Amino acid sequence: MDSNQNRVQKPNRSIKPATAKGAKDPQKAIAEIKKRSTTRQKKQQQQKQLIILGAALLAVIVAIIIIAVACSGGKGGTNDVTADASPAVTAPVQGTDTDLVPVTTEPTGTNPLSVNGLGEVYTAEEYLQSLTPGATPQPVQYLPIIEKGPTDSKRIAITVDDLNEVDNLNKIITIAESNKAKITLFAIGSVVDAKPTLQEALRRADKLSFEIENHTYDHEREKRVYSLDDAGLAYEIYQTQLAVNNALGVNYDMHFVRLPGGNGETDLRTHQYLIQLGNYKGIAHWTFSGSNASITDIKKSLKPGYIYLFHCKDADLKKLEEIIPYAVEQGFELVTLNEMLGYEPNAKSSLTGDSAIPEPYPFVYQEFTMVGKKHYTQMYIVQLMQKRLIDLGYLSSAAAVDGDYGDDTKLAVRLFQYYNSLSADGLAGTATQSVLFSSGAKFNPSTYVAGDESTYPSGTELEMFLNSAG
Ligand SMILES: [Zn+2]
Repeated sequence: MDSNQNRVQKPNRSIKPATAKGAKDPQKAIAEIKKRSTTRQKKQQQQKQLIILGAALLAVIVAIIIIAVACSGGKGGTNDVTADASPAVTAPVQGTDTDLVPVTTEPTGTNPLSVNGLGEVYTAEEYLQSLTPGATPQPVQYLPIIEKGPTDSKRIAITVDDLNEVDNLNKIITIAESNKAKITLFAIGSVVDAKPTLQEALRRADKLSFEIENHTYDHEREKRVYSLDDAGLAYEIYQTQLAVNNALGVNYDMHFVRLPGGNGETDLRTHQYLIQLGNYKGIAHWTFSGSNASITDIKKSLKPGYIYLFHCKDADLKKLEEIIPYAVEQGFELVTLNEMLGYEPNAKSSLTGDSAIPEPYPFVYQEFTMVGKKHYTQMYIVQLMQKRLIDLGYLSSAAAVDGDYGDDTKLAVRLFQYYNSLSADGLAGTATQSVLFSSGAKFNPSTYVAGDESTYPSGTELEMFLNSAG
């Protein structure tokens, strides 16, 4: 099952800062190219051409594979992609399951490439080729997701999120100051805008060389960045920068975003946008949640490189009153994230007053295989897939378009794969994604709809279908 070469480069869950502004940065190439494409109209025209070109290309590839498969007796390669792609041309999925699936009439009509309101989707190849024919697509970069710092020196980083309770925050700042400790504050933009007292506390923290970072603007469950459209994503990130800039009276180049709940940390589009903005070094996770632990357990946990998550609640304040002096006593240096990770302090420049929010570049997705159901699989691309599966009739319109690759989504993917002559493993691999987002994707011809159990065949039949398909 090794298909690394075909997957998107995995986010780097290590402490080493990645080369966000690497030499051959595709974003840069994209930025340059994008400048030339001045109007949206032009882009749409290009998109149309692209779709036609893509379809033609797909047809050629399919033809080639048909010939290849015919010549080789139908046995494809062993890697994921070939396994995923070969059924596209070897036609009917084998096994008794064919009999189990009632086929209604083949729907007719157009099947436009629609990602309705959820943004534009390109493969890296399509996108670059559409703008610069002949360009070599490069892997889209991820920023590191930081869960821990270097462990070779006795340093820890205390981070405090949300900052709603300003009185408590001021007390925490005082405790840190009197213990010669530094802390990193993750600010919610809307709270900063709403509370002049918080703005003052941030100025005070900044004067003490504490660090202020981005915790998105709204912090509501329905405002998780991976689940928003482009404008929503940009607002959540950039509007928070503006709020902090205004509070501090300078342009303040934050280095880290912490996503509420850690949701969507591996979402490619979010990484893309942070890289586009230029000042971000990573997405900040944490090693240990002090908010969820007892004072005793926090004391026991103290280790070099640990990043601690706290909030400003009364309970957190109580813990920090004890933990900060204790950690110092134990010989730990309490540093900011920048210090821990070896970055310069967040750069400051004079306030420009420019509040225009940079628009994200069109979303470029690359090949990946979706597995599991953990929170960190929540992704924008999964939302796009869910929307598309609903449009094509494989996923119930009542299903949540939430970017979470759960059981219903997986079943919908299997049904889609089955009726599009792909290996029905429920993993949205390269071949599956390219067919799904193509105009050649087939509507669900059956009466089965994932997410609507009343349409499922009876227990054993469904099991047989799923087993035979997988
Ligand atoms: Zn939070």
